[in-house]
Amino acid sequence: MLTQRHDHVHADMLGVEEALERILSHFHVLEAEEKPILEALGQVLAEDVTSDFDIPPMDNSAMDGYAVQFDSIKGATPKRPRLLKVRGYVAAGQLPKEEVLPGTAVRIMTGAPVPPGTDTIVPFEDTDEVERKQSDVSLSEIGVTHSVPQGTSIRRAGEDIKRGQVALTQGTVLRPGDIGVLASLGYSKVKVIRRPVVAIIATGDELLEPGESSQPGKIYDSNSYSLASAVLRYGGIPRALGIARDNLESMKSRLQEGLEADFLLTSAGVSKGDYDIVKDVLALHGRISFWSVRMRPAKPLAFGVLHGPRGRDVPHLGLPGNPVSSLVAFEEFARPAIYKMMGKSNYSKPTIEALLEEPIHNVDGRRVYARVVVTKQQGRYYARLTGNQGSNILTSMARANGLAICPEDIPEMKAGQVVKVEMLDWMEDVF
Ligand code: AMP
Ligand code: MG
Repeated sequence: MLTQRHDHVHADMLGVEEALERILSHFHVLEAEEKPILEALGQVLAEDVTSDFDIPPMDNSAMDGYAVQFDSIKGATPKRPRLLKVRGYVAAGQLPKEEVLPGTAVRIMTGAPVPPGTDTIVPFEDTDEVERKQSDVSLSEIGVTHSVPQGTSIRRAGEDIKRGQVALTQGTVLRPGDIGVLASLGYSKVKVIRRPVVAIIATGDELLEPGESSQPGKIYDSNSYSLASAVLRYGGIPRALGIARDNLESMKSRLQEGLEADFLLTSAGVSKGDYDIVKDVLALHGRISFWSVRMRPAKPLAFGVLHGPRGRDVPHLGLPGNPVSSLVAFEEFARPAIYKMMGKSNYSKPTIEALLEEPIHNVDGRRVYARVVVTKQQGRYYARLTGNQGSNILTSMARANGLAICPEDIPEMKAGQVVKVEMLDWMEDVF
C-alpha cells in the first residue's frame, strides 16, 4: 500500500537525469573565435594544432658542460683524467662555430645547439674545470674526471614534438601547459569555442539591491550575485540584469535585454505563489514548461525556449527562488548547459566516496543533495552536514565544499555509511 502511494506522489515528477537530458537537448556548441593565447585559458580548442617544425628545433645540450666524442673520454677517472683540447664555446641562442674532433671539446651551455661531431655531453661536475679556475690553470685544456655513457645529455631535435605532428587536439580544454605548448609553437592567437553570455534576472517585489538601505519586509537579492559568480566560475560571461518586479511591465523590460544572451536564467517565480508572474511573461515569448524535479532542494524548475531577436531561440532556465535551491539547480542543470555550449565533453564534477559522520534523512523519496564539509583523516574522506539544511539557509551552501547525494529510494543514510559526494571545491588545504 505504502509503495503505491509513493508511486502516486512521484508520478508527475521528473527524474534528475531526465530533466538534465531535456535541458541539454536545447543547447549547442557555440561558434569558434580567435583569441590571444593567454585569454583562451579554460576554453576549448576548436581545431587540431599541428607543428610546422621540430621541438626542440635542433639537437641541444641538456647540461652546462663540454661537448665531446665518447671515444675521447671513455674510461676517464679522477686518477686518470682524459685531457681534451678546448676548441671553443657555444651559449644558448648561438650557433656553434667549431666542430668536435677526436681529443677535443667545445664548452657548451644548457640549450645551446650541439656542435657537429658531438655524441656526448660531459657536465662540468665530471671535469676538473673548477680546480683549474681556482688554481689559475689554463682552460685551453680540460680534464674529464668521470666517464659518462655515450649520448648523455643530448636532447634530440623533435623529441618533444615532431614537425607535422598534431601537438594539441580539437576539444582540449586549454590549461597552462597547453598554453605553453601553443607559445612554443609560435602561436600568439588560437581558435577556441567562445564563452556563452548568460543573462540573469532576479524576480520579486521583496528584493533590494545590495548597497540600498534596508527596509522592513524586504531582503537583499543574493541570487543574482551567487548565480553570476557561478556563471563566471564555470566559464560563462554573466550579465546580471537586476531585479524584475512581480508585474508584467517590469518583467517585460528586463526580458528584452535577456533575449540578447545565449542563455537566460531567472530566479524565483516558479513555485505556486500568487504573485509569480514569470510564467505569464515567458509564455508570451515562447514555450515554457514547469517541472517538479525529484530532488531536494530545488524541486520547482521551469524550462523553456524563448524567441529572441533575429530569429534566435534562447533557452531559458527558471531557477527556484530559495538561495540554496537556485545554486544547487545551477550546479546540476545550468553548469552542464554552459559546459556544452563551451564545447566541453565532460559535464561531471569530481566525485568521491566519503564516510558519513551523521545521518541524512530522506523524507519523501527525492534525491537529496546534502551540503557537507568533506575532510581527509588518515587517508579517508569524511563528510559532515553544514548544519540546518533548509533551502533558505544560504550559509549551509557557503560553508560546504561538496554535495552528498542520498539516492531517491533510500529513506535514511546512517552515520558510518559510505556516501557519494560531488565536490563543489577541491581545496588544497583539506586534500
Ligand atoms: P518564490 O519562488 O518567488 O516564491 O521565492 C521563494 C523564496 O526565495 C522566497 O522566500 C523569496 O523571498 C526568496 N528569493 C527569491 N528571490 C530571491 C533572491 N534574488 N535572493 C534571495 N532570495 C530570494
Ligand atoms: Mg517571488
